[in-house]
Amino acid sequence: MTMKIPEAVECIISRLNENGYEAFAVGGCVRDTILCRSPEDWDITTSAKPEQVKEIFPRTVDTGIQHGTVTVVMNRTGYEVTTYRIDGEYEDGRHPKSVSYTSVLKEDLRRRDFTINAMAYSHKTGIVDEFKGMDDLKKQVIRCVGDPIERFTEDALRILRAIRFSAQLNFTIEAQTFKAITVIAPNMAKVSKERIQTELTKLLISSHPEKISLVYETGISPYISSHFHQVPYEKAVKLNGRENGFLPEGKKYLRWAMFLRFAGEEQAVLVLKDLKMDNDTICKARTLVKWWDYPVKAEEESVRLLMSKMEPELFDDLLQLKMLSAYGRQITDYCKEIALIRDLIRDRGDCLYLRDLSVTGKDLIEAGIKPGKEIGDILEKMLSAVLQQPKRNTKEELLNKFVYNKAPAAE
Ligand code: ATP
Ligand code: MG
Repeated sequence: MTMKIPEAVECIISRLNENGYEAFAVGGCVRDTILCRSPEDWDITTSAKPEQVKEIFPRTVDTGIQHGTVTVVMNRTGYEVTTYRIDGEYEDGRHPKSVSYTSVLKEDLRRRDFTINAMAYSHKTGIVDEFKGMDDLKKQVIRCVGDPIERFTEDALRILRAIRFSAQLNFTIEAQTFKAITVIAPNMAKVSKERIQTELTKLLISSHPEKISLVYETGISPYISSHFHQVPYEKAVKLNGRENGFLPEGKKYLRWAMFLRFAGEEQAVLVLKDLKMDNDTICKARTLVKWWDYPVKAEEESVRLLMSKMEPELFDDLLQLKMLSAYGRQITDYCKEIALIRDLIRDRGDCLYLRDLSVTGKDLIEAGIKPGKEIGDILEKMLSAVLQQPKRNTKEELLNKFVYNKAPAAE
């Protein structure tokens, strides 16, 4: 079987071979290529030691030299080239105390987490599959290489990786591997919150975010955080399938909001803070959780009011979230109607935010209002009036009504 690999990867492998070393593409990139998915990154494994790799290639970066990894830069892209490695004893349930090099590819494949991630490939040799990864790809299962209890004890992050891959690939977790997860669950406490967050985010933005329920069903949720454990996940994962699909990383707040939408605003924020989520994501997810179920009516004034609560992109996300949660034609039709009204409001350019108001703070000061809280209060009142009736957004009418207390001119 010949696999398509990027030119640069082929070039790195050939150069290593020419210098007398073995080299293969390995891990996730081999798995994804066989599955006809596009790999995130290409990793290369080689019998060459890091120093030898550095002698061969002019441009390298010592990214993880202590674990045998050198990044080779080619066409402005970095490729991680790692020496065949055996991990020493694991000391904290996360990291090996030491690593040692080996000249045997099979030993390097043995330290990898799952059979589907333990295959190597080169044009010269074809696929190297020492642990029946191909069979498991066909069966669509995630199975540890070797004894799952041992493998999860060595590194508890693998527990979350198993669940995350099962969401990304829509695979099931093989029975022994699943059982081991339930046994080793308490070790999850040893994994840093940032790493947990990264894995859960990958899971949520995949095409099967509903698989987050595995985090609860395997019993690891209490070891993630107590707020996380209390999330009403069963309701949250009942999704309208048609609206599913892979989302870009930049939209992660949308899937987090989806998962947390029944938890309420406060708990949602606590969960995200526990997981050391960045503030921008917390803020957006919070807004969506707060408003996703707001009883907006399919009429302009009501839609404008809701639109004014958030930035335009977030409002579109909110509609998507509503659709995702929608059951039955009626709700779907209702969401579509809201979307049409939204388009109308946008096409007309109705004022939705203070920044669109035809009166500014400066205008109010010029009209004799003292700088201070009153300015903000008046602007808010003006905005609220304009949200009801967009036509009122003229400087004259607003100043007359809210500053000079004059009745609006008769129409
Ligand atoms: P993706 O890049 O899509 O997230 P991946 O399988 O490529 O998935 P990486 O984190 O890029 O995952 O790791 C590359 C390879 O390194 C894996 O395929 C696996 O063989 C090995 N690996 C990564 N993390 C671990 C781990 N915690 N334990 C054992 N092997 C691991
Ligand atoms: Mg990868």
